[in-house]
Amino acid sequence: MTESNDHLIDWLRDAYAMEQQAETMLTAMSERIEHYPDIRARISEHIRETRRQADMLRGCIERRGGDVSTIKNMAARAMAAAQGLGGMFASDEIVKGAMASYTFEHMEIASYRCLIAAADEVGDVETSRVCAEILREEQAMAEWVFEHLPEVTRAFLARSETAGAEAKV
Ligand code: MG
Ligand code: FE
Repeated sequence: MTESNDHLIDWLRDAYAMEQQAETMLTAMSERIEHYPDIRARISEHIRETRRQADMLRGCIERRGGDVSTIKNMAARAMAAAQGLGGMFASDEIVKGAMASYTFEHMEIASYRCLIAAADEVGDVETSRVCAEILREEQAMAEWVFEHLPEVTRAFLARSETAGAEAKV
């Protein structure tokens, strides 16, 4: 089981880095949103969930005798910041951001689905429980984004048709 244990801890570290990236991305997005209060509120809620997810993952990693890699996390944050900057210059930023969020949530869903299987395989009941809890939050967020994509698109288009109104964010 040594190999499996090593993989599990690696994947938990990857997930931790992914949540760091999520926090940076979501924070950048929410700070720039001015005209879409519903989206801003849901993102703020998910930022709180994301911070808690990262804490819970750190707990799983430390319980298994590992620690969180600073270099990987710094790289993840830098990448997220660069992505945030890239999106800033697109005139349809809010629509692009919503699509990117939907994609990101699904990357998270896939990660936790694999983590649960790996944790079950090595008999780590607590890690499996934590990842199942996080998975539900990611699925709820993905569903919310899916439901709101048409509304975001319509709101963006309506604002862009209105003279003087700023449609971007
Ligand atoms: Mg997450
Ligand atoms: Fe998420």
